[in-house]
Amino acid sequence: MESSEQNCELEIDPEALPDERGHFGSYGGMYVPETLMTPLFELTEAYHEARRDPEFEVELQHHLREFAGRPTNLYLAERLTEHCGGAQIYLKREDLLHTGAHKINNALGQALLAKRMGKTRIIAETGAGQHGIATAAMCAKMGFDCVIYMGEEDMRRQELNVYRMRLCGAEVRGVSAGQKTLKEAVNEAMRDWVTNVRHTHYIIGSALGAHPFPMMVRDFHRVIGEETRRQILEKAGRLPDEVAACVGGGSNAIGIFFAFLKDAQVRLTGVEAGGREIKSGHHAARFAGGRLGVLQGAKTWILQNEDGQIDLTHSVSAGLDYAAVGPEHAYYKEKGRIHFGYATDAEALEAFRDLCSVEGIVPALETAHGIAYTMQRARELGPDQIIIGNLSGRGDKDVQEAARVLGDL
Ligand SMILES: *Cc1c(COP(=O)(O)O)cnc(C)c1O
Repeated sequence: MESSEQNCELEIDPEALPDERGHFGSYGGMYVPETLMTPLFELTEAYHEARRDPEFEVELQHHLREFAGRPTNLYLAERLTEHCGGAQIYLKREDLLHTGAHKINNALGQALLAKRMGKTRIIAETGAGQHGIATAAMCAKMGFDCVIYMGEEDMRRQELNVYRMRLCGAEVRGVSAGQKTLKEAVNEAMRDWVTNVRHTHYIIGSALGAHPFPMMVRDFHRVIGEETRRQILEKAGRLPDEVAACVGGGSNAIGIFFAFLKDAQVRLTGVEAGGREIKSGHHAARFAGGRLGVLQGAKTWILQNEDGQIDLTHSVSAGLDYAAVGPEHAYYKEKGRIHFGYATDAEALEAFRDLCSVEGIVPALETAHGIAYTMQRARELGPDQIIIGNLSGRGDKDVQEAARVLGDL
């Protein structure tokens, strides 16, 4: 496991970002075909208008509480703390939300926005299926037509999730292009959106894509960090020394980090998927092996070759297995405000097993990458220090894969 060291001097107000064209410094933006510019501007306008309306806020809070199950607990993991023998470890329990991960915060917010815009049909992409399930659940609850795009390879690996989406009334459309995984599913969803934008809203599943998506997705997840900050002040009487989260596109991470960005004494660490090793095709750690480029609407760090062709990626966790990272993370990495490390498949699996056996909590394999770092870091820190790990989702979906890889216990 590795984590970079940088000096931090942040003179920029996080609330002022992105600018009106979606730039976080030199990252982000709207790199899309002309036909998409008008829908994106309309969406941006509708979003700002909704956020200024107190009724929207009341409705959002109502459903977050009554349907999603917020607030989630901030849990002092006493046995894990003892097991590591260092800093006190707290876990933010996003795994206890309805549908099993933080994804519902964003699906819920965007579904309410779509209703307000008069849309009747929702589309989404999904990799492991967590975002697809959150979206399908919201569509069932609110009576939207729902189409989920999913790579055929992912459909095969996540059969149960496919059926779960169908149970909620969603049509799951297999995508057979390329690697048949998440990147291709995003392409198909974009194509559908361009064609049907008059009555269709596209709910993207992470802090990725063209403006205004990274901003909207971030904002709907900011509740994670706002609760966490309040809860740690109540429980420990002070701010934590560090907050850590796994980073796929970066939505759970920016969600918990945002409330701490201005607290210079709180170290923030994002953990990417180190896969088998940091060698092209064997991992998904964009900051460890990537370069600046443009993918699916935004300028950011990307795993690509010298011609700009996207590299194959690998991770034991489908939710971290993507070639680009959210542009806001690229910005805070450049500024030295958020540090990035990675955990390998093996390290994540070990942390997965530890959290199960020491705390009785089965985390998602994505989450286990963040837990691996949290445990390692806790060992380096003293008992009077506090580290918070974001428990982004539960691992029911991964039990079969864990059984296959870990074998007989
Ligand atoms: C989707 C997912 C992730 C990765 O997505 P981010 O946008 O980086 O948060 C992490 N954890 C869980 C449980 C997920 O379902």
